[in-house]
Amino acid sequence: MSRLVMKFGGTSVADVERIRNVALHVKREVEEGNQVAVVLSAMAGKTDELVGFCKQASANYDRREYDFIVSSGEQITSGLLAIILQDMGIDARSWAGWQIPIKTSSVASAARIEEIDSANLIASMEKGQVSVVAGFQGISAEGRVTTLGRGGSDTSAVALAASLDARCDIYTDVDGVYTTDPRIVKQARKLPRVSYEEMLEMASLGAKVLQTRSVELAMVYKVPLQVRSSFDAPDNIPVVPGNNFGPGTLVCEEELIVEEQVVSGIAYSKDEAKVTVRHVKDKPGISASIFRPLADANISVDMIVQNVSPDGEFANITFTVVANDLDMAVSVLEEKQQEIGFESLETASNVTKISIVGIGMRSHAGVAAKMFDVLASHGINILAIATSEIKTSVLIDQDYTELALRSLHTAYDLDAE
Ligand code: ASP
Ligand code: MG
Repeated sequence: MSRLVMKFGGTSVADVERIRNVALHVKREVEEGNQVAVVLSAMAGKTDELVGFCKQASANYDRREYDFIVSSGEQITSGLLAIILQDMGIDARSWAGWQIPIKTSSVASAARIEEIDSANLIASMEKGQVSVVAGFQGISAEGRVTTLGRGGSDTSAVALAASLDARCDIYTDVDGVYTTDPRIVKQARKLPRVSYEEMLEMASLGAKVLQTRSVELAMVYKVPLQVRSSFDAPDNIPVVPGNNFGPGTLVCEEELIVEEQVVSGIAYSKDEAKVTVRHVKDKPGISASIFRPLADANISVDMIVQNVSPDGEFANITFTVVANDLDMAVSVLEEKQQEIGFESLETASNVTKISIVGIGMRSHAGVAAKMFDVLASHGINILAIATSEIKTSVLIDQDYTELALRSLHTAYDLDAE
């Protein structure tokens, strides 16, 4: 008998009627003979509402109380699904994170799962009971309720699947992972399979289907992940045979990908800001004097470009941060202006990062050059570049986002027929 973790996101449990639809998906898998654990998000918009309450209560709220408050959204949906399943004659019960327990680190609102004691859960699943687990939450060693960061239910599901030795189906409001955002590029195609590594890049580069951390975990523990739609008719979906093709996208090991493309997907993020530190001396230690204080303030820097003056005396250093960190980055650097010795700071947030991702890039030359050619042919200027083995990212003016996505999608042969 195989074990299955089914995870449903906020739009799939947005109201009681939709939770009834979720119950039908669960019923199908139970009737197929699976032992099922379900992980749920809060109703769409609920977590934002709860975060709003915290902010209303105090500008400087206790993060541990924030976790206690925002984790409640998942308890509501879990209890409701258990009730609905029971009404259908399916044995089911809800589990809060602490009841299992899902043990996490103590960093409130950004806790990491450290260990899951799944013995109780397994015992109840072996009796034929469906376990409905509240996602996004756990308990710290101090006995406080913790949450895993926004979008954390994906991570709850994958971690649970790893500890139950189960496969994991992620039900969401899209029917899979696409070559790029289908709302922008009509010719975007659903990928039947994508490797963990590519998915990880795509998730961290702005594709919003899965929380980045959940993909990391799936990769480490080799959990087969299937992304599929909860809005398909529940009785109409062919049940996934083994870990083979199902109706959605399978996120899996590279070896299982048959039809390998050089570029598998194109991600974008408008959530970027650019800072240029003007006219610093070009000497050893200057980059450290800029980036050390930013690191100490917990600001992640992504792309970095340095331009040196013709006489080799001075440099401009440009870098990007997520838009949310821009003000903080500027204030950290202004405080250190004397020490760093820069003339001025220049910032821009009307920028987009576009990334091409594909494991095929490892073995093919000219993939990045093609990207630059395509952008140049449309008169799109590149403000910064970053690369890894399987991705190339460029920063461009936000106005050109759609043009860049469409033309790159065509250039790398990703358009649907
Ligand atoms: N409800 C949480 C959030 O909105 C966790 C999740 O849905 O994954 O961030
Ligand atoms: Mg989500």
